[in-house]
Amino acid sequence: MSEAVIIDGKGLAQELREELGHRVTELRAQVGRPPALTVILVGEDPASQVYVRNKERACEKAGIRGEVLRLPASTSAGEIHREILRINEDPSVDGLLVQLPVPDGIDPAALREWIDPAKDVDGLHPRNVGLLASGMPGLVPCTPLGCLRMLRHHHVATAGARAVVLGRSLIVGRPMAALLSAKGVDATVTLAHSRSRDLAAICRQADILVAAAGVPQLVQPDWVRRGATVLDVGIHRVDDPTHPKGARLVGDVDPGVREVAGYLSPVPGGVGPMTIAMLLENTVTAFCRREGLEAGGES
Ligand code: NAD
Repeated sequence: MSEAVIIDGKGLAQELREELGHRVTELRAQVGRPPALTVILVGEDPASQVYVRNKERACEKAGIRGEVLRLPASTSAGEIHREILRINEDPSVDGLLVQLPVPDGIDPAALREWIDPAKDVDGLHPRNVGLLASGMPGLVPCTPLGCLRMLRHHHVATAGARAVVLGRSLIVGRPMAALLSAKGVDATVTLAHSRSRDLAAICRQADILVAAAGVPQLVQPDWVRRGATVLDVGIHRVDDPTHPKGARLVGDVDPGVREVAGYLSPVPGGVGPMTIAMLLENTVTAFCRREGLEAGGES
């Protein structure tokens, strides 16, 4: 029995970032300034610090001006609001996001509404959520955008396919379901979640299964139809004394699924790197739209 083709998200992301780098060089010459992304980081969450540093480095490599506004955990919602409004007004900034999670006491829903939808590169502003739901161009969350790009890269047939998305978060599950069911992608989508009955049976129907439940190795080999495409969005650090770093990353999908699936995105090296590439792409898309240029991109 043949094993799944492993979808090399890391390699694909690298290719996309290089292409984007060339595009940025051209755009910079044309417009006279580079695309720019500002990330607001509130507090000292160690994982967030790593994510933000990675975003900063990725911007630099692509020729995008990346800036991080580091605010102490004690910053009030009012102060964050003022900073967001200031960056909204700054004509030299194209993309703005607040790294999640934010400290207790700050409402992420309020933050989402404060960001100018034209600069909302995480695609979480209600306006962008609504545009995606209506099939109109806006800014689309990076992780589902990356997942769609992986399917396209491998020519996975989506029209008429049965897709199951596990998880209904605003940042992954819901926009993934919206993208898969959009005109032109045309999958028949089931959005499953923590209250869904008999997940295994639902998953077994899937030609395309996107696992974003945030539960380590939830998806078992007998949940997967032979030959199905499985995208593993989950990221979990688990202790492993045999690993040189004492811990390793696992996803929402059990490694045994490799024996059953047709295509499988690995963790690490799958969806994660694609998410960063899509963040850069969304920043360039926002830049182009703000400058009245053809956006290209997927959003
Ligand atoms: P979340 O916690 O906001 O949402 C999880 C969703 O899964 C919820 O809608 C919940 O109803 C559902 N769920 C929980 N338990 C379930 C179960 N047993 N069965 C079915 N559904 C269940 O998480 P999120 O922000 O959407 O992230 C999901 C996972 O993806 C996490 O592991 C996160 O670390 C990872 N993630 C990865 C990337 C990336 O770039 N690779 C980006 C974002 C999130």
